[in-house]
Amino acid sequence: MTDKKIPRVQLPDDVRLDTLAVREGLPASAWGENSEALFLTSSFVHPDAATAAARFANEQEAFIYSRFTNPTVTMMERRLAAMEGMQACIGTASGMSAIMLLVLGLLKAGDHVICSQSVFGTTIRLLSGDFAKFGVESTFVSQTDVNEWRRAVRPNTKLLFAESPTNPLTEVCDIRALADIAHANNALLAVDNCFCTPALQRPVEYGADLIIHSGTKYLDGQGRVIAGAICASDELINDRFAPLMRSCGMTLSPFNAWVVLKGLETLSIRMQAQSQRAGVLASWLEQQAQVERVYYPGLKSHPQHELAMAQQSGNGGAVVSFIVRGKGADIGRKNAFHVVDSTRVCSITANLGDTKTTITHPASTTHARLTEEQRLAAGITQGMVRVAVGLDDVEDIKTDLLRGLSTL
Ligand SMILES: *Cc1c(COP(=O)(O)O)cnc(C)c1O
Repeated sequence: MTDKKIPRVQLPDDVRLDTLAVREGLPASAWGENSEALFLTSSFVHPDAATAAARFANEQEAFIYSRFTNPTVTMMERRLAAMEGMQACIGTASGMSAIMLLVLGLLKAGDHVICSQSVFGTTIRLLSGDFAKFGVESTFVSQTDVNEWRRAVRPNTKLLFAESPTNPLTEVCDIRALADIAHANNALLAVDNCFCTPALQRPVEYGADLIIHSGTKYLDGQGRVIAGAICASDELINDRFAPLMRSCGMTLSPFNAWVVLKGLETLSIRMQAQSQRAGVLASWLEQQAQVERVYYPGLKSHPQHELAMAQQSGNGGAVVSFIVRGKGADIGRKNAFHVVDSTRVCSITANLGDTKTTITHPASTTHARLTEEQRLAAGITQGMVRVAVGLDDVEDIKTDLLRGLSTL
């Protein structure tokens, strides 16, 4: 065989994100299909024993076994990497397994991670519980105070981990500033880009080394599958993560990869539309007498509004949180439950990134495993409601929320 590499789609070098989103992947198979095929096969056949040996020795790139290589998964990986502006990507079974792979691949006992205290709760549990058990140390710092990150650096710091904006408070971190701290100290910066996706924010442009995704959210975009990914340099993906995928098997299934691959084709227009609707809803919520405070990066009242607009291509994203009026935790919770329970359009679910607008009470769902003190320290009160705006008509969502707000 003369071809030692798996071939690429022949696209001009300068095509833009929207074109990559519908075309990057693998060349069509011998049948010339226009829509990407779903390769439901566990293994691949070699023409002869010598070729099999060359492929197993990594002398020739080929599909071997779907625990670590599958064409549908490769198409999703190449497309997402291209959209993030990164060299390479590795798909994983879930967003959490992407973070597990990140830590397994980069760190060893005695290494230190600095992580925002406002990241996805399960990420905090993974680092502070499961990985602490194996001797990986973590320090959790303010999402927005860059000096706290700087002060937390130790000689054994290898990784900084951030997420922006965060859930449910939509706090925004300065990705460039964190990348500078990481690089000045021989560490890497990983950014969980779940909330904005490359359609609104490309962390590599601000110096991030690794991008984490929960494909379960906006990348799929229609609430169908669990999926995850890490985007990084060819070197990191090939040397650190691919061998671990082969031995650990937190594999993305071809079917889930295919669903995400097709989701990426509409990511940009969905993100724009959902973000626009969220902006309308957030401005309206700010005007409501029964709403005490609204958290949304697109509002002028947001503490990091300007930074968010610069980092997120002028978009606020699709997640809006607000605090319902009412003094005290008990009244706050009762009022928030009333608003949630009065909806007839929104789906009451903690998931987000769906075309269907979802509503949840963070203190008793996504953040229920924290103590009340930890919740309050994080700014999550009992009166808070989070809305992840989908593609419903925003007027219907206003009416849906007003049904509860006007009867408090
Ligand atoms: C949901 C989520 C994850 C975890 O992803 P799963 O696909 O559910 O494992 C990680 N980070 C953020 C920001 C998330 O919202």
